[in-house]
Amino acid sequence: MSGDGLSMDRDPAGVANVPHAGEPPAAQPLTDILLRPAARPSRIPQPPARPEPALVEITIDGSPVSVPAGSTILEACRAEGIDTPTLCYLENLTPVNVCRVCVVEVTGSRVLVPACSRRVEAGMEVQTDSDRVRLSRRMVMELLGSSVDLSTAPAAAGYIERYEADPERYGPPARTAAPGERDAHEAGHHHPPATDAAETVLQPVKVDNELYIRDYSKCILCYKCVEACGEDAQNTFAIAVAGRGFDARISTESAVPLPDSACVYCGNCIGVCPTGALMFKSEFEMRGAGTWDESAQTVTETICPYCGVGCVLELHVQDNTIVTVTSPLDSSVTEGHLCVKGRFGFQFVQNRGPRQG
Ligand code: SF4
Ligand code: SF4
Repeated sequence: MSGDGLSMDRDPAGVANVPHAGEPPAAQPLTDILLRPAARPSRIPQPPARPEPALVEITIDGSPVSVPAGSTILEACRAEGIDTPTLCYLENLTPVNVCRVCVVEVTGSRVLVPACSRRVEAGMEVQTDSDRVRLSRRMVMELLGSSVDLSTAPAAAGYIERYEADPERYGPPARTAAPGERDAHEAGHHHPPATDAAETVLQPVKVDNELYIRDYSKCILCYKCVEACGEDAQNTFAIAVAGRGFDARISTESAVPLPDSACVYCGNCIGVCPTGALMFKSEFEMRGAGTWDESAQTVTETICPYCGVGCVLELHVQDNTIVTVTSPLDSSVTEGHLCVKGRFGFQFVQNRGPRQG
């Protein structure tokens, strides 16, 4: 023992300190701290234990079901395995209930109600597949199908088939707008509708940067991109809905090109767009060249290498080349959202030369 009286023998593992007789008690061994449950209550305030949510009894399509109070009708339907169509709804965004394709009939309600945002109430009687519901969903899909290019929106195309919608009954599509024509429309200034054709939102694709394109001929105005750019994820507010009625459109401030806007190119708007209106430039170019082939793509999950946050990336690879990057909606780190580096900064992988040695 050394003369300072503080010397201690090492335990066989060389970790815990063992005091000699007469010496003050040693500090608690590290292994005890790490392995034993805490003897004292934590000084960090703990949230109170959450009580189990009460159950609410409702009927869906005549069958009684119990669902947690506070659930939406959509959640209750999905828990029962009822496939309810949605276009503007996404798990990682606040429901805005604008597309109206999820509407259901609730006994006692004058109008059909959006399942995505209406919460269940005790005794509620819900019909998800009545004639009224099917007619309404068919109308929504006919109006969308007649005015919007749904060629890269497989879910929407599926609903058209499922509800036997006939978008062609409104006639052939009206002419494609000239570049910037729809952007110049002012709220309240109405234009004579086409009488011999179905009014559309067809317009040239906006290609003004190297990362992603905006093809608003495919926009169903679901608001998802606006939400992802705003409070639900990015808080950049680079885009919003401009105009009113049929002139309503997604726009940057004063319709400036993206490089002149507040956009920071996180691509979260692309990640939530259900129709392909917002698309990686890489995908847009491959589609144009006829080389885009999802069936030939693999998806590999990895962690973004750029910083310490640990965002989960899904690398979509075709012909040994990363073609797009997404993030899973159920990732507790990203909830599907990324920044510009994770979303678009993958070129360096391709630019590496052959491995040396
Ligand atoms: S890329 Fe990001 S910042 Fe730019 S418009 Fe989309 S969500 Fe907004
Ligand atoms: S661009 Fe896409 S996400 Fe944005 S409103 Fe249109 S369809 Fe929805």
